Amino acid sequence: MSEAAKQPPTPQTYAAKAYAATSPTSAMGPLTIRRREPEPSDVQIEILYCGVCHSDFHQIRNEWPKDLPTTYPCVPGHEIVGRVTKVGSAVTRFRPGDLAGVGVLVDSCRTCASCRDGLEQYCEVGNTLTYNAEDKHLGGVTYGGYSESIVADEAFVFRIPPGLDPSATGPLLCAGITTYSPLRHWGVEKGQRVGVIGLGGLGHMGLKFAHALGAEVVLFTTSRGKVADGRRLGADEVVVTRDAGALDKHKASLDFLLDTVSADHDINSYLALLKRDKTLALVGLPPQPFAVASFSLLAGRHRLAGSGIGGVRETQEMLDFCAAHGIACDVEVIGIEKIDLAFERMLEGDVKYRFVIDMASLKEGGREAGKR
Ligand code: NAP
Ligand code: ZN
Ligand code: ZN
Repeated sequence: MSEAAKQPPTPQTYAAKAYAATSPTSAMGPLTIRRREPEPSDVQIEILYCGVCHSDFHQIRNEWPKDLPTTYPCVPGHEIVGRVTKVGSAVTRFRPGDLAGVGVLVDSCRTCASCRDGLEQYCEVGNTLTYNAEDKHLGGVTYGGYSESIVADEAFVFRIPPGLDPSATGPLLCAGITTYSPLRHWGVEKGQRVGVIGLGGLGHMGLKFAHALGAEVVLFTTSRGKVADGRRLGADEVVVTRDAGALDKHKASLDFLLDTVSADHDINSYLALLKRDKTLALVGLPPQPFAVASFSLLAGRHRLAGSGIGGVRETQEMLDFCAAHGIACDVEVIGIEKIDLAFERMLEGDVKYRFVIDMASLKEGGREAGKR
């Protein structure tokens, strides 16, 4: 056999428009990327909407250099909803024309204990994130949903239940599942008093889910202007944490706390709000490590835990839960040319409560990647 005949076949690719950061300080701008032509188990999706997650911003600014260093150019976006345009020969669950979604993962080993348990987010071999992960098909890194199309294995593509508005559904695939999963894992239910810290994209979904699960919900926010929204979104009580002594009357009162904050804050003052033996679960990913005092944990035998997105099975369950309970994200739809402004507003806490990019705007072009 000749050397050439031993090589694996080169995947067929096509050009797709995308929006990228080219360095930690660059503005976002247009970039043409290559996507693989669908292989037998792949689904090709024309992206209609993509949500803007705070993780997208952490990643393009390379704010997690030790854990998830950024490879440039970086095309973020993992809250993707679109229309199926093509399917591979082995695909059984999708047909062209179907609505479909892609979240934070596009692959995993599928054989380790976590994958077998439907917890692909904790794959012990290493899963493939939708962006900034090794692209096992084309080499280089994966590119996310700030793009006109994406190709993913059907095992990681979600059906969008009828009745969900496509423009408000993408964020369920990250903000939604990231809050739903820990609330379910720690058994939040009627009769419990549950706290949600931070009212952004994740926080507002946390309020909706905790309320739908029947808990009495307390929102902890730094933003006085979000009190009325907090109540509308499902909080029974809203605590403005900037007010002196605001946390004092909530000491030892909560059965569970979900911390969605994206920046450094004092975790010890929140641990003190838990009843004995209860858990504070971190889902926020502030770039800096926390200073946790031993006293905060041993007083009350408190637990500090973390939770990452959710597995494939649970994500589909969450979408169905949303359809059954009439739950959607509160979104502000933007053109992609506004993405840098959206990131700035997100940093100021001025998001009500998730930006979603209308990908039709990408067809209209934009500035060249890297130019402000
Ligand atoms: P977001 O929309 O920007 O919301 C974050 C909220 O945190 C803000 O709205 C604000 O709420 C609060 N906050 C911000 N800075 C603060 C500060 N210095 N002190 C106290 N509170 C502050 O962000 P997001 O998209 O919801 O994401 C939140 C975090 O979760 C990010 O770090 C993101 O990377 C991470 N994340 C993790 C996972 C996972 O799998 N675990 C998945 C997705 C995202 P108030 O105005 O109400 O105070
Ligand atoms: Zn996300
Ligand atoms: Zn695995």
